[in-house]
This record gives sequence, C-alpha cells and structure tokens, in this order.
Amino acid sequence: LTNDQLDQWDRENFFHPSTHLAQHARGESPNRIVKTASGVYIEDRDGNKLLDAFAGLYCVNVGYGRQEIAEAIADQARELAYYHAYVGHGTEASITLAKMVLDRAPANMSKVYFGLGGSDANETNIKLVWYYNNILGRPEKKKIISRWRGYHGSGLMTGSLTGLATFHNKFDLPLSQVIHTEAPYYLRRPRKDMSEAEFVRHCVAELEALIAREGADTIAAFIGEPILGTGGIVPPPAGYWAAIQAVLHKHDILLIADEVVTGFGRLGTMMGSDHYGMRPDIITIAKGLTSAYAPLSGSIIGEKMWSVLEQGTDENGPIGHGWTYSAHPIGAAAGIANLKLIDSLGLVENAGSVGAYLNAQMQAAVGDHLNVGEVRGEGMLCAVELVKDRNATEFFDASEKVAPRIVGEMAKAGVIARAMPQGDIIGFAPPLCLTKAEADIVVEKTASALKSVLG
Ligand code: PLP
Repeated sequence: LTNDQLDQWDRENFFHPSTHLAQHARGESPNRIVKTASGVYIEDRDGNKLLDAFAGLYCVNVGYGRQEIAEAIADQARELAYYHAYVGHGTEASITLAKMVLDRAPANMSKVYFGLGGSDANETNIKLVWYYNNILGRPEKKKIISRWRGYHGSGLMTGSLTGLATFHNKFDLPLSQVIHTEAPYYLRRPRKDMSEAEFVRHCVAELEALIAREGADTIAAFIGEPILGTGGIVPPPAGYWAAIQAVLHKHDILLIADEVVTGFGRLGTMMGSDHYGMRPDIITIAKGLTSAYAPLSGSIIGEKMWSVLEQGTDENGPIGHGWTYSAHPIGAAAGIANLKLIDSLGLVENAGSVGAYLNAQMQAAVGDHLNVGEVRGEGMLCAVELVKDRNATEFFDASEKVAPRIVGEMAKAGVIARAMPQGDIIGFAPPLCLTKAEADIVVEKTASALKSVLG
C-alpha cells in the first residue's frame, strides 16, 4: 500500500479518538502512520525516526520492540488464545499474573480484578465501592470526590471523574454522584503569597467544606492520581497526601489511587502510592502493567474492602460485573513478561535515576527562560509549563497554541513530547529505559524548539 492510499482510507473510514471534528472536516488533521519501533524510537512510513519522549501515551514503559514480550504473546496465542475468567475458570497466565501483581502491591492489598484499560478498571472500582457500602447497609454513601484536572478515563462514570471540561461538555457530565475538589496545583494557587504549607491547608479546607456541604454519610470514596498526569503532570506539594488521607480517614471515605500512569515504576518506586506514603483502599493499574504490548488493566483491592466484599450475600447471587476479556490470557502473558523485564533490567531504579537527571537537565536548560513558569516532575515524568511572563505568572491565551507549536517544532527535530490538553504545558513521560544520552537529546530539542517559537 502506498502512503497516499493509506492516507485516503484513513480519512474516509477512521474516526480517531480525540478528533477535532472541525479540523477534520477542513481536511487539516495531520497524520503520522507509524510503522515500527525499537527502544525509545518510533519510525513512521515516511522514514522519519523519532525519539518518543511520551512512551506512546505514557505506557510503553519497557520501551519498544522487546522480543521477550512478543514471544510470550505468540506462545500464549498458540497454546490458548482465549478462555474466559468468569468464576470457576482461570488460565495459568492470569493466575500467575495476579500473584505477581499482588507481590508488587503495597502490603495491605488483597485481590486483583482484571479489566482491559484504565477507564474500565475505574468503572470497576466505583461499582465495587458501591457494592461494599451496600453490604455494609449504607447504600446512600455513594458520591465520589475527584479533583479538578484529575484524569480517570472517558466513559460516562470515568469521564465524570475526570476533572477536565472537554470530557464533560456536550455529554451532560459529570453524573450527579461525582463531585470535584481543588487540584493540588501550586503554580496556580489562589494567592501568590501562599506558601506550600498554606496551600496544602487550603486544599484540605476546600475538601472539608465539600464534605460538610454534601454530608460525609453520602460520600463513598475519593479518587486521585498520586501525581496529576493528563491534567498537567503536577506533583503534589509536600504533605498533601498525608493531610488529605487524614480527612478521608476521619469521615470513613475510601481512597482510590489511580496508578494507571504511576504503577510499575514510573516514579522510581514500584507504585506511586509507595512514593507518596499513600495507603489506598483500591489501586487502579493499566498502561505499565503490560507496557501496552496488549490491553490489560486491574483493580487491586485492599484488605479493608475485601474483608467486607467476601461476606457477600446469598440473595444477590454472583456479583453483576464482568467483561468478556477480563484477564485475557494474551494480556496476562504480556504482563508476566513485562514485569519480569522491569525487574531484570532494573527499570524502577533507572526511572528514578535517569528521571531525576532528565528533570535536573531540563531545569538547567530552560528553567530560567522568561516564558517558563515552572519545570516540574518526579521520576520519569517531567513538565515544562509556559507562561506569558514568569514574574507575573500570567498565562498564554489558549488560542495562541504555544505548547502545540513548540511540540510541533520538536517533532520536526525528531523528538515526541505532548502538549498537555489543558494549559500550555509540554509533557514528558519517556520509556523507563531512557538513557542519560537520550535524556540529553530530549532536553536539547526542547530548548531549541522553545527558542525558535518564543525567542
Ligand atoms: N487513569 C489515568 C490516570 C490515566 O492516565 C488514564 C489514561 O491516560 C486512564 C485512567 C484511562 O485509561 P484508558 O485510556 O486505558 O481507559
């Protein structure tokens, strides 16, 4: 097939996620048809080789082209491509992976329920939280608190949890059971003279006020990413999680840690919860579980919830929740090979050390630029937030498309970064196998693109 033919079929037949419909109608949607990839590089059909500093969508954690995972998938497909995991059935791969996941989870975790992607895993979480409260005889304890700028998926419930306007507009979301609270986003704090500690107290006060307004007996859970991801790659200020958890504990509100991005090494610890001292009741996992070699997600359920769920009730029969592809053997085989690679290559440690290097080098290269409000990150996550004037911390108007223009220049120079969907933020989430030499390339191309767009 020629590239022109593929391009034509694509425009004629393929409705892509996140399509800008007006741009599509005007024939403006740019298109890159990716052909192959190895390590941290992808190659398109026009012969361009690009360093993927976003690991696909923060998911190809072990890097591209790992033959060990490809072989594991092929072996599994030959031996048993599919059997379902409904109660009373299992496969060697899914049972083994469940054990490997629990071995890597915090100590108070008890069971894993497998799904396909991060969105459906979060749907599972909410249903299990509701089921739990029903067993406890308090079905009215149902609302879920999420943060503005949190990202938890794009289904009806998970799109509601997501605290970004584009996921709500025109869909009648959020659903009434979802309420949002302040994002721990220090750069955008309400008053410039607030210290970090004051800002944490402000976030806590906002949460307390929301709980008081709604009534603690109507609130089931709080969901949050250890570090805000799609909302802008924003690490929380020191002490944030400890303070939030104290409030949740006081009001008997469960904590769901959405570790779709942070799970399996990205922050330099196996789980992001470990990094921030979080004690969640459920952990959402996806992306890094298989490094996206096959779709698979999971809800890791803590002992507190499991001890109630396992009481069940005979009159309800089996729990009314499951997917055809829950614990798909091919996803499970990919997961096993992937977790083994993360261990054998020392990728959790590499994410910590090379991630710190990437963040430090980025800070040194662009941190003093007049239009850089902040370089921030943790482990193998980094963000450069662009502002109109760093002294006033005035933000660019979205119509100026500053971050998309810089990211476009970077792609021309051979590095893929992501213009985050809200605000002028350039995001980096490279594969965890990134080397220091590759980090240098990312930093250099960022600095030169910044210079070419903003001077
Ligand atoms: N949760 C978080 C923190 C995510 O970043 C994402 C996706 O980026 C999701 C959930 C949704 O996962 P998926 O796109 O696999 O449904």
